[in-house]
Amino acid sequence: MYQFILATLFPELFESFVATSIIGKAVDKELLNFHFVNVRDFATDRHRTVDDTPYGGGPGMVMKVAPVLGAFETLPECHKVFMSPQGKRFDQGAASRLAKLDKPLLLFCGRYEGLDERIVEMFDEQISIGDFVLNGGEVAAMVVIESISRLIPGVIGKLDSTVEESFSNGLLEYPQYTRPEEIDGKRVPPILLSGNHGKIAEWRHGQSLLRTYLHRPDLFEKHQMTDKEKQLFDEALKGSPGE
Ligand code: SAM
Repeated sequence: MYQFILATLFPELFESFVATSIIGKAVDKELLNFHFVNVRDFATDRHRTVDDTPYGGGPGMVMKVAPVLGAFETLPECHKVFMSPQGKRFDQGAASRLAKLDKPLLLFCGRYEGLDERIVEMFDEQISIGDFVLNGGEVAAMVVIESISRLIPGVIGKLDSTVEESFSNGLLEYPQYTRPEEIDGKRVPPILLSGNHGKIAEWRHGQSLLRTYLHRPDLFEKHQMTDKEKQLFDEALKGSPGE
């Protein structure tokens, strides 16, 4: 069972998240487990204060040290991650690395202007979900939880669907189509109706290369194309033979 520990001031934000859809089912099947540490429970004064002023002045508050350290003391041996816009940018590679951990994963959700730097240094790593600033780490932690959970065996019905997904091979996924065959004159690419699974796989791979080239040139540049891929890419670029 994969164990997540969430340290947060707002555990209630996770209530429906851990009980709904794929994550909820995985919890019921005991593939995933969530343990919540409410940092406010470790406040030491009668007002349950969890913020403090920054040394040196300036706008905003910092998470108060005593409750954070109190929460830390209750933690089992675990891999400690601080959710932070200053962390390393999260990606599919990081999700796959963290999915293989052999100990619980702590995701610490900051609030206010974050944590005292000496506490930040107690973490194994910092993770950012992108170059923007959120109010708190909770939504960022949900992003990390979802992407890791999809890689835990048994969580997604067909593991194949995660193998072919965007980023798993360094490329974006090919376009998907479902019924009806025509919407406002736009038809499903005929190759997908051919029943020729070999040709369909080739067409999809070409489309995957083309999408990555068009939408994420940074990923495309890193991808070393084989001769076969060059051919599939050229065909996709010319819009044939699928369309
Ligand atoms: N003053 C901080 C800074 O500039 O780095 C930002 C603090 S932010 C308002 C409060 C908390 O939200 C952070 O401590 C962090 O836990 C979380 N957070 C904000 N943006 C994030 C991001 N892009 N990725 C992960 N966590 C984020």
